[in-house]
Amino acid sequence: MRYPLRAVILKKFKELPELTDIEPDWSLGPGEVLLEVEMSGLCYRDLLTVDGYFPRTKLPIILGHEIAGKVLRVGDGVISFKPGDRVASLTYIPCGKCRYCKSGNENLCKQRLTFGEDINGSFAQMVKVHERSLVKIPDKVTPEGAAMAACVTGMVLHAFRHVARIKEGESVLITGAGGGVGIHAVQVAKAFGCRVIAATSSEEKLKHILDAGADEVLLSDDKMVENVKRLTDNEGVDVVLEAVGQPTFDKSLRCLAWGGRMVVVGNVTVSSVEVPLGLIILKANSIAGTIAATKRDLEDALRLTAEGKVKPVVTVYPLEKVYDAMEKMRRKESIGRILLKP
Ligand SMILES: [Zn+2]
Ligand SMILES: [Zn+2]
Repeated sequence: MRYPLRAVILKKFKELPELTDIEPDWSLGPGEVLLEVEMSGLCYRDLLTVDGYFPRTKLPIILGHEIAGKVLRVGDGVISFKPGDRVASLTYIPCGKCRYCKSGNENLCKQRLTFGEDINGSFAQMVKVHERSLVKIPDKVTPEGAAMAACVTGMVLHAFRHVARIKEGESVLITGAGGGVGIHAVQVAKAFGCRVIAATSSEEKLKHILDAGADEVLLSDDKMVENVKRLTDNEGVDVVLEAVGQPTFDKSLRCLAWGGRMVVVGNVTVSSVEVPLGLIILKANSIAGTIAATKRDLEDALRLTAEGKVKPVVTVYPLEKVYDAMEKMRRKESIGRILLKP
């Protein structure tokens, strides 16, 4: 292991983060665990952090909150993990004490510390985490599958299971289906036994989304509502996973069946939407947000991956190519998740 540490550090909002060598403090407090990072996911949230949308971010900071690694050392009191264990981490450290943490809803913990915003993240060779965030990786799961288990697979699992309360046999529309979240949401919805209609703005991505298991694919163009209605006997879909945000929001809403539920996970343009209240009242629709995965979601996401129900669709860049990776994500050219390998 090299000291100092190569890391991607954001020093100032709206400026490129620096790829540089630093010498962090490796002392571990009670419950803390030092990981060698095996793989890290690049998230749209990282771009928003760089752009200054989370002004409370504690600069300078090492970016990255999608973490798969190997335990190097453990602090006092850590008994569940030992050096050599392969682990995946939540995207945050929950406080472990509040009413949300005590009821298994730690994704809502207000005292949680998010990697890459409140505490140093994983765009580095090593990262300091806490045992409260960690789950062991089943043997069959690759570092690729583990790095996206919390912020992608687990988050989507949470959205479907706890927020949309999805049921086997229901129809699901997924927007932004060629993206990192969307293409794996297709696989998770199929694992729930649903019929999946997937929408993308990119003609080139249609085939890849079909390969990922979607029952039908279509373009999220002006005809999206008409096409979804046609595919569902004019009923609309039971659930929409809105992974884009403002550009597709209104169309997605109009694709919902009576009693249909929309879960919003994407906010790519960070702008507001208008909600036609009459429509959602008359059709008894609901619109909900969702944030992050809980530890149980992360465990179940890793299980789905081990069972082969979720097959990572990824492009891996070496950490040194972080700027290329970020640029690729901004241009929305990649299919699936972009990962960084230190
Ligand atoms: Zn993420
Ligand atoms: Zn808490």
